[in-house]
Amino acid sequence: MVLDNLGTSLKDALKKIANSGKIDKEVIDEVVKDIQRAMIQADVNVRLVMKLSSQIKNRALTEAPPAGMNSKEHVLRIVYTELVNIVGKATPVALQSQTIMMVGLQGSGKTTTSAKIARYFARKGLKPAVICADTYRPGAYDQLKQLCDKLGVGFYGEAGNKDAVAIVRNGLKEMAKYDIKIVDTAGRHALETDLIQEMKDIYGLTKFDHKLLVLDAAIGQQASEQAKAFNDAIGITGVVITKLDGTAKGGGALSAVSDTNTSIAFIGVGETPDDMERFDPDGFISRLLGMGDLKALVERANEVLLKDDVNVEKMMQGKFTLNDMYDQLEAINKMGPLKQIMSMLPLGGLGGNITDDMYKMTQDKLKGYKVIMDSMTAAERDDPKLIGSSRIVRVAHGSGKSADEVRELLKYHKMMQKAMKGMKGGGPGGKMNMQKMMKQMGMK
Ligand code: GDP
Ligand code: MG
Repeated sequence: MVLDNLGTSLKDALKKIANSGKIDKEVIDEVVKDIQRAMIQADVNVRLVMKLSSQIKNRALTEAPPAGMNSKEHVLRIVYTELVNIVGKATPVALQSQTIMMVGLQGSGKTTTSAKIARYFARKGLKPAVICADTYRPGAYDQLKQLCDKLGVGFYGEAGNKDAVAIVRNGLKEMAKYDIKIVDTAGRHALETDLIQEMKDIYGLTKFDHKLLVLDAAIGQQASEQAKAFNDAIGITGVVITKLDGTAKGGGALSAVSDTNTSIAFIGVGETPDDMERFDPDGFISRLLGMGDLKALVERANEVLLKDDVNVEKMMQGKFTLNDMYDQLEAINKMGPLKQIMSMLPLGGLGGNITDDMYKMTQDKLKGYKVIMDSMTAAERDDPKLIGSSRIVRVAHGSGKSADEVRELLKYHKMMQKAMKGMKGGGPGGKMNMQKMMKQMGMK
């Protein structure tokens, strides 16, 4: 979960408001102190913490609650909106042809993020390619090429060539037919003048629509200094904070964004190409405070479920074959670890009791189902009612699974079919549908 510790201590601070008899200066002072402590422990820089806390204090003590809102709700809302202000607006990233340059320290996650961003655009129907401009790190070419091949996105690199500027120049030409060109550069420290010059030279090759600074959530207080140096050199248009899934404190990176007056474009929340989200200030703070965030979930769900190969409309309207079921399960799987999705749901909703085991069960199940389905005829997959007890034995035999496992698959299908019917009525992709669907599929 994103910034676990900060979230927990902020939640505790807010609980004090909720549990207090009445809101007075004493309570506000105490809560503000708790918030300060939580932020400083999370590496948020002191200047920013002070700005935030005086803002909260001022408003809480002087503003009257608007009509219809009690004083507790009012103070909670002030804390929430001030936190949202601190993280700022998200960097706009248009869904159109563009050229993007990735910069940052070594190991911050540039290469992984380049692939994730390529994947992000590919999912939106655009054609991305990544250009490997890291001529320093051994294996950089192979790492990126493998990632791109796996994702089926374009790749340009010149193994053996040490001239990063020339590679990018060639790459931009070679990859001209791609919608999105992402340049993955070598990591550098703000003090390495040669490398900074190389970065400027690459920057000078074309008009980059975005120059994204990749910051590791664990970077701590030196984040601001680094961000300033990169900003001075090429003028960054946005930040990607990576590894927010770890136990990292993250406050250093958040402070850097505020200090350089930039904004966050994406956040990385895991190692796989799907573990990245568009930054959404409201959603981010809601999640941090445990208020839940269905927005990110729904966006992600829509993306996956509305792909051509998963025709939700069709499935809800009529026949729901085993192939449909498989596509559906696969789609849910592609959304990323269930656990992560669940953490986006409101507290007390479905999020509470998902365990790693349950997620793994679904992954394993999917694999098993595939094997079983491969032993069925096309007609059987299309109409599983054809599969009576003798066919169950045959399929079990053919797939090397037990008859019980085949029966379980058929039962699961029936259950999902019912769930699909139940979803009729609401439009596809709506938040209630997702919740309902997961619940009905036993993923609650
Ligand atoms: P680069 O040197 O800046 O290109 O960094 P890489 O992309 O090679 O990433 C360095 C390491 O961080 C790799 O092991 C990545 O798998 C890992 N990594 C990158 N982004 C994330 C993230 O969002 N979460 C986690 N857990 N690991 C990440
Ligand atoms: Mg790299």
